[in-house]
Amino acid sequence: IIDLKNIYKEYDELEVLKNINLYIRKNEFLTLLGPSGCGKTTTLRIIGGFEQPTIGEVVFEGKNITDIPPYERQINTVFQKYALFPHMNVFENIAFGLKIKKIPKLEIKERVENILKTINLVGFENRSIDSLSGGQQQRVAIARALVNKPKVLLLDEPLGALDLKLRKEMQMELKNMQKSLGITFIYVTHDQEEALTMSDTIAVMDNGEIQQIGTPVDIYNEPKNAFVAKFIGESN
Ligand code: ATP
Repeated sequence: IIDLKNIYKEYDELEVLKNINLYIRKNEFLTLLGPSGCGKTTTLRIIGGFEQPTIGEVVFEGKNITDIPPYERQINTVFQKYALFPHMNVFENIAFGLKIKKIPKLEIKERVENILKTINLVGFENRSIDSLSGGQQQRVAIARALVNKPKVLLLDEPLGALDLKLRKEMQMELKNMQKSLGITFIYVTHDQEEALTMSDTIAVMDNGEIQQIGTPVDIYNEPKNAFVAKFIGESN
């Protein structure tokens, strides 16, 4: 569904991405895994359209979308910081993007109710954002990204702010949601265990480059180089 071709990204003198080539299949759960500063977020921002590559192309369903702005891509993003509107309630936060698109009120209501079922927040419509726990706020952020039915969802360390127990719970929920909705997920984390449990495919990054791409089993059993072996090993 997405093909990154020879992506390079430079900020001033700093080479942040060096020749990233990555093919992501429809309905795949792909994780970008690597240490802080290796270029995961930059890769995600380029896929989302928030950042332009210095060189290279982003291809979506066969079309070059490198110059298409984020809101015209069928790709949505959930950021680590929830970035919800604090002065709006749960319903209004989720409905916001649909209202802008001038979708009829009745349809908005139906779509929001449906997505609230998916993320287990039925009955929370009128709650204010600051009355919600961190996990609930993150669910609202995910609902808001899903409600206009994107083909691809980008998630940047979405569980980073949650405690361990909630993180484990949300990992299962996200994975089930991805499979049942049939959406392609591109997920960023520096947590090896999270990547190994959730992903269909893992791309291990270091220093602006993809070091290895494979299934969790491949990456775990047959690390291709010393960096991957050490980084994956650190989870034990
Ligand atoms: P983290 O897990 O800490 O978020 P990351 O793997 O997502 O790390 P990026 O955020 O992609 O890494 O950053 C990669 C490198 O690019 C870092 O060295 C960062 O300082 C640099 N960088 C990112 N955005 C900019 C920017 N707008 N201007 C200059 N340098 C930047």
